[in-house]
Amino acid sequence: MNQRVLPDSLEESLIADQLQRQKAAFIAEGPVSAALREDRLQRAVDLLKTHADRICEVISEDFGGRHPVTTLSMDVQTPIGHLKYAKKNVQRWMRPQRRASVFPFNLFGARAELRFQPKGVVGIAGTWNCPLFMLFGPLAGVFAAGNRAMLKPSDLSLATSQWLAEVVPQYFDPLELSVITGGVATAQAFTRQAFDHLVFTGSINVAKQIMRDAAEHLVPLTLELGGKSPTVIGRSADLKKAAQSIVMARIQNGGQVCVMPDTVYVPREHMAVFVAEFKALWLQMLPTVTGNADMTAVANARHLERVERKIEQARAAGALVEILGQVDAGGQDRRRPLRLVLDAPADTAFAQEEIFGQAMALESYDDVQAVVARINAGSRPLALYYYGKDRAEQEYVLGHTLSGGACVNEAMLHVAVHDMPFGGIGASGMGRYNGPEGFAEFSHMRGVYHAGWWDPRRKLGMAPPYTDKLLQMMKKAL
Ligand code: NAD
Repeated sequence: MNQRVLPDSLEESLIADQLQRQKAAFIAEGPVSAALREDRLQRAVDLLKTHADRICEVISEDFGGRHPVTTLSMDVQTPIGHLKYAKKNVQRWMRPQRRASVFPFNLFGARAELRFQPKGVVGIAGTWNCPLFMLFGPLAGVFAAGNRAMLKPSDLSLATSQWLAEVVPQYFDPLELSVITGGVATAQAFTRQAFDHLVFTGSINVAKQIMRDAAEHLVPLTLELGGKSPTVIGRSADLKKAAQSIVMARIQNGGQVCVMPDTVYVPREHMAVFVAEFKALWLQMLPTVTGNADMTAVANARHLERVERKIEQARAAGALVEILGQVDAGGQDRRRPLRLVLDAPADTAFAQEEIFGQAMALESYDDVQAVVARINAGSRPLALYYYGKDRAEQEYVLGHTLSGGACVNEAMLHVAVHDMPFGGIGASGMGRYNGPEGFAEFSHMRGVYHAGWWDPRRKLGMAPPYTDKLLQMMKKAL
């Protein structure tokens, strides 16, 4: 992906018109049957499955190099898994739930139920790092809940956006699912619309603007943001296994994943062994850099410059930088070796901001309580990882921190669990998708009360003229 961006092709009024048409179709449709929801979910699966090869091509073109294994795993298989899981469960999820009614009316047949109704038209604005997962992942819950949707792929995913805009109408009526392409101005116009719900994936700064804009129409938001996902290696951890698990995460997508282990806390006396294990495994898997098709390139020149600048600032401030591989002289691509940055000073951007690229922070520690205090002093992360066999320490770390999700002796795999919600907390986001909680997120949970066969209020003296006896009875009941 170069510095090309899509033209600001769509006027705000055209986006608003499209939304109004989809809203009108939603209203005209009335209740959305399970069969139709399942059919929409299946068509989304078919779209991804049928065009898997083309998807690998367009995403690789946008990145300037991404292996089909990475694309099939992140942008095809994973969303298909969530879509299929939603299809399998939607009938059960959408069943109304009986709730306890209210005394004394329940004695006379009054009942209460919770109904799950679609909200209407949901906007989904994605980002470039997993361009299809960020759209089709939330879409599983959005369609399962019976909604229609409008997708806005990232302005930086040019080839993917254009392909998506061509292919979606082959599977969906534009009133069910539409695609809006364009640059940042189009993204701004899109996120200002009066959606019935908006899902935004991206950075904290842009999310603040999105939230201000959403206030205008009181649009409910799901914000999927990022942050520095901390990784705590306990003293009881098997260092080789921990290194292997973190390498398996770090090789994904050139480090450009929102739940990537960002800062790894290692007991001081184990740091040298951990680095040696990590380095050996990394170089076995990715021995070369430039032109290595197994490695994902940095997505564009701006992000390359952002990450390189942070590493250089940390080095200048006294951090040790270990480089795992070499860029070939004259190498033209944006693949870069992983840099292990040891003990970057706390006031550097490297130590403070999400890295989101080919570098990982390593921090030595003496006392796990100090690590927990460090984590709690920062923003609440999207993910937290603990490695070790010490159950008491594991529960201490999990119990004294908050993060969107977490893994024990693993990294990132919690996102692939179909039956668990995925989302952030605090600065890493709000709301969630995936699993039954994703269905609930995009449903309106409407409480419906059904009157019984007899209203006892007048008989019980609960209607005017009020009596002292009623007053005393009510006070006693308190
Ligand atoms: P970004 O916030 O700069 O841009 C996100 C998207 O928003 C862009 O692709 C663009 O289309 C749109 N946009 C840009 N400016 C806008 C504006 N003013 N108004 C409305 N829309 C605008 O983020 P990015 O650099 O594309 O993505 C990286 C960030 O996304 C990282 O912080 C990463 O952690 C986060 N992320 C989070 C998740 C998650 O699921 N939680 C997943 C992937 C990435």
